[in-house]
Amino acid sequence: MSTVAVVGAGPAGIFAAHELAGQGHRVILLDMGKPVSERDRENGFDLLHGMGGAGTFSDGKINFHPQVGGDLYEFMSPGQAWELIRHIEAIFGAYGVHVMSTSDEATLDLEKRAAKAGVRFLPIRQAHIGSDHLTELMQRLSEDLQRMGVVFRMNTRVTDVLASDGRARGVVIEGGEQLLADAVLLAAGRVGSEWTRRVIERLGLSVVYNPVDVGVRVEVPAIVMADVIDICYDPKFYVRAPTYDDQVRTFCVSPHGFVVRESYPEEGVVGVNGHSLKDRQTENTNFALLTSINLTEPVESTTAYGVSIARLATTIGGGRPTLQSLGDLRRHRRSTWSRLSKSPGDVVPTLEDVTPGDISMALPHRIVTDLLEALDVLARIIPGLDADRTLLYALELKRYANKPRTDRALQTDLPGLYVAGDGAGVARGIGGAAATGAIAARGIMAGLA
Ligand SMILES: Cc1cc2nc3c(=O)[nH]c(=O)nc-3n(C[C@H](O)[C@H](O)[C@H](O)COP(=O)(O)OP(=O)(O)OC[C@H]3O[C@@H](n4cnc5c(N)ncnc54)[C@H](O)[C@@H]3O)c2cc1C
Repeated sequence: MSTVAVVGAGPAGIFAAHELAGQGHRVILLDMGKPVSERDRENGFDLLHGMGGAGTFSDGKINFHPQVGGDLYEFMSPGQAWELIRHIEAIFGAYGVHVMSTSDEATLDLEKRAAKAGVRFLPIRQAHIGSDHLTELMQRLSEDLQRMGVVFRMNTRVTDVLASDGRARGVVIEGGEQLLADAVLLAAGRVGSEWTRRVIERLGLSVVYNPVDVGVRVEVPAIVMADVIDICYDPKFYVRAPTYDDQVRTFCVSPHGFVVRESYPEEGVVGVNGHSLKDRQTENTNFALLTSINLTEPVESTTAYGVSIARLATTIGGGRPTLQSLGDLRRHRRSTWSRLSKSPGDVVPTLEDVTPGDISMALPHRIVTDLLEALDVLARIIPGLDADRTLLYALELKRYANKPRTDRALQTDLPGLYVAGDGAGVARGIGGAAATGAIAARGIMAGLA
């Protein structure tokens, strides 16, 4: 029986372990965080580390589409990619996670309305677990994986990959223990992306840079988006902003949700994100509005550029996210608390630990122009989105790890070393992470056969 060391117990590592153990392989799943029952969402480290990875305290919105949250067509044909997505969906289904039903007619109508406004609407099968139900799901998953023979080594930080004679041989654990394995999968998530890059570079393997998405979180009264959300829980719209011909997209719509703060203290950066709870709702809906930046020469690392914008935004906000109404942004004036709550119709921000200010001082002109133009176009499909009272929080930053160069089975140039999930820049969400975990697991099994 061959042994596979999987680093990271997030969705990528879990689905890889599920696939491998299901076929009788011995899996050792290592994670520097705690078992799910011991994780405390109020603890900064626990938030992103441990069983379930960043997925455990996420919003639990799962997109079942091969080109959302990563692009599976890079690794297989569209037919195979759809088959894999159905497989992932079936596993989630066994844990009671079901796709929300939508009317085909209403979806088609929305697609038409979007097309007439010059916007691309991507219909997607989606499920929403809700942050408050994810821990229960992760607990059941870990119990089942243990029954399938997966050995969990939690509170275990992996420091390096062992390689000899041109092949991965296992991993090194903090303290110096060497764990030998026939294959190694690095599924270390966004929190482990820097570590993954360092390991890859130390092994002399190449990386490819990914683009970075920068923008704002938009918050409106829930009623403004209700019609569209009735058709699709997390609608994905793609707009081409005319001035710079940049693509702007909506992302992570959180109906009746909360805008939340996202901190990266090691980089001195504060930003925002959003989530919805199944059991606690607000009167607002929020979503990210993002523009993609993909630099070439002389700056290849778009991440460094994205982080420098985030630092500027953090400085302008005095260490807090900046909040501005769309009306104030259009009138080139900063928002103030008194201006933000002038009339009864104003949107009450769900995140209060912010600095009312001027987003145009925080973001490059090109990005502000892209976002304003996109909101104008989207308002043709969602009337009211472009109202003065619409709130904008800066900054939302989505950076994706640099991708180690791999083959289509996600094997790096070092035989026996595979990568999957957000930490390897091949996924950007639970569905994509799970799918790439399964791809790597199948690659490992084919390689060991
Ligand atoms: C607030 C928030 C909300 C989100 N909402 C959604 C959503 O609604 N829908 C969606 O699809 N996605 C959402 N996401 C993103 C989603 O959680 C991730 O895309 C997904 O968890 C990535 O899975 P992964 O397995 O690649 O990595 P992760 O889930 O990040 O797991 C990686 C694991 O690796 C471990 N690790 C890292 N380095 C090491 C090491 N050296 N040794 C040992 N262990 C290590 C970490 O402790 C971690 O547990 C959200 C994320 C956040 C932060």
